[in-house]
Amino acid sequence: MTARLSTHRFTRVLATGAITVMLATGAATQTHIVAPKNNYAPSDDVKLGRDAAAEARKELPILNDDRVREWVQDVGLRLANNIPAEYQHPEFKYDFDVVNESDINAFALPGGPMFVNRGMIEKAHTEGEVAGVMAHELSHVALRHGTAQATKAQKFQIGAIAGQILGAVVGGTAGSLIAQGSNFGLSTYFMKFSREYESQADVLGSQIMARAGYDPRDMANMFKTIEQEGGASGPEWLSDHPDPGNRYQRITDEAKLLRVNSSYSTGQFANIQTRLKNDGRSYTAQEIADGKAKTANNGTPRPAGRTANVRVDPPSSSLKTYRPTNFLQVSVPSNWSQVGQDNGITYAPQGAFYDSQGGGTAFTHGVEFGTAQGSSGNLQRDTQSLLQSFARSNPNLHQQSGFSRVNVNGRQGLVTQLSNVSEVTGQQEFVQLTTTYLRDGNMLYMIGVSPQNEANTYNNTFNRVRSSLKISDR
Ligand SMILES: [Zn+2]
Repeated sequence: MTARLSTHRFTRVLATGAITVMLATGAATQTHIVAPKNNYAPSDDVKLGRDAAAEARKELPILNDDRVREWVQDVGLRLANNIPAEYQHPEFKYDFDVVNESDINAFALPGGPMFVNRGMIEKAHTEGEVAGVMAHELSHVALRHGTAQATKAQKFQIGAIAGQILGAVVGGTAGSLIAQGSNFGLSTYFMKFSREYESQADVLGSQIMARAGYDPRDMANMFKTIEQEGGASGPEWLSDHPDPGNRYQRITDEAKLLRVNSSYSTGQFANIQTRLKNDGRSYTAQEIADGKAKTANNGTPRPAGRTANVRVDPPSSSLKTYRPTNFLQVSVPSNWSQVGQDNGITYAPQGAFYDSQGGGTAFTHGVEFGTAQGSSGNLQRDTQSLLQSFARSNPNLHQQSGFSRVNVNGRQGLVTQLSNVSEVTGQQEFVQLTTTYLRDGNMLYMIGVSPQNEANTYNNTFNRVRSSLKISDR
């Protein structure tokens, strides 16, 4: 089971944040972008982005070359300082890291943190091309597209996302019970955009470039370079930033409406590319996902490839009691320990928990607790929404039974059994999910996971763990 908040894809985000072409007294002026409706406060963007960035820095290999980072900072801040005043948010802090990844990609998180892949800098032909991708990403941040997308999402789709946000609130203290999955999973949610938002970012990005002294057509050129890369690199950026249609033409048209007052460049681009040639090897996205990249992360890398057998001792019959939050007490087999506190609370035996550098964590035996928003007041419906979100990071997850009522420390709960294919072993695994409401209407869930061939033993263990739960929220 991979504990990672899923990437939600929305079939269609309705276009209300429309682009309005303004014609003033017969003369064409630049396109005016209206930021889409957003129910979140800018301070929410800042918090979400900061948490996700911290997770990204743990899980991605950050390039250890200050000169390259400073150069990216110079270009990025030049652009950020040229965001038009109406799209500036004083709370936002634009900040730039370089990831030692060969795939052409870059991503920006709500509130300002941006990650630029080394491969993007290496494949670019000019500084303006790098600036083009960065200006596009900055525009998503300035227009607050991540939280605007969450605003538009229907309740059942937003449930798990909001649960992630609310998890810290529900838990109350540090080390609190946070909704399923890592914040880095959350960040991928904020990086997938609709074509409508893509068009907005292309247009505003062009305007920012012109103000900063870069030729907006370099953005279009870089998109062409990304398209031509194809293969293993390129498509990821394109799947996060789909072509809104005639992208190249649209940017070129906008460029004609813009005046690039004085041409700007750091003059360092050639030096930076030369430096990168001597910066040792970089890693593909796949290698990073497989835990092969060297990073500052000191978690246990997931074993490379799939290992058919994971050696784990059977659950002890004696129990050990934990109090992971101020409102929860639980007893688990005494040979399990608490792991992965930042990403939800997991109890697992030695050898069953993996800190996956490609995103989130995976465990083969044990239980995980988390919270998710209960948005419907109907436990079965909210549980189904939660399952949908789990299924997005566990594509082989299938429900094997209906929902049965179960008593969870005196509260009504639901339990269901599922099957999955373990990301770690490649083998079938058994999953038991229990949900119940907390007093504030949010859901508490418990996921038990074991290999399919040990399902009987572990099903009993999960039932014992559930019976031990004491929930004392009010
Ligand atoms: Zn985009």
